[in-house]
Amino acid sequence: MMRITASGRSDVGLTRQHNEDSYEIDPERQLYLVADGMGGHTHGEVASRTAVDAICQYVVDYAKDGTPPPLPEQDAELSKHLRLLKGAILSAHERVLREIRQDGSLHGMGTTVAAFLVAGESAVVAHVGDSRIYRLRSGDLRLLTEDHTWVNEQVTAGFLSEDQARVHPLKNVVTRALGGEGDLEVDVDEVDLQPGDRYLLCSDGLTTMLRDAEIADRMRRRESPEQVCGRLVAAAQERGGYDDTTVIVLDVTG
Ligand code: CA
Repeated sequence: MMRITASGRSDVGLTRQHNEDSYEIDPERQLYLVADGMGGHTHGEVASRTAVDAICQYVVDYAKDGTPPPLPEQDAELSKHLRLLKGAILSAHERVLREIRQDGSLHGMGTTVAAFLVAGESAVVAHVGDSRIYRLRSGDLRLLTEDHTWVNEQVTAGFLSEDQARVHPLKNVVTRALGGEGDLEVDVDEVDLQPGDRYLLCSDGLTTMLRDAEIADRMRRRESPEQVCGRLVAAAQERGGYDDTTVIVLDVTG
């Protein structure tokens, strides 16, 4: 089992009233989550907190029973931890939809999620929307997730550059969200863990303010996860901090 040291931080944007992001660090189950809610009034907060709580609960229930609830047949070949995390996110999606059905005023709320679950020598990563997961290994920063956004589709198709996408007026349009309509597609992947790895989970409040190179610069510092979290959030706010910024930094030691 790898040893993980993690820290998280969430700051409301400089121009906003409510922090619509939520995050959770569960060291016992080695589960790390960042969610970025959307919707009018305080509904973004409700969506992201509902989703984070539901994912944690699902994983806690599994730890008690030892058997993850069944998933659709096409997922049968996924590893146990992949199924567990995917199942947790699908159940959180259902929970958000249920809240909306019970209270019509919540209509339109939704949330992204980026999730990281340690499973022995590897970790399972999963995401929906534009919250991201990066890995710093041997000084190189690599994005492990692909944004589910309209602008990212344009970048992939060659119509926009990364820099144009970061400042595009439609940069906030996500193509997938928990609480959204239709079947939810969750991207899941398994990554090997190596001592010395440093991972970042973050909401787009960070990545619309800072380029990857600027994030890498702070991630490379020989400082604790807590200090790096502080630096990342401070840097986003210095740039204008138009949006809530949430980060979790976790270090892997052998
Ligand atoms: Ca956001």
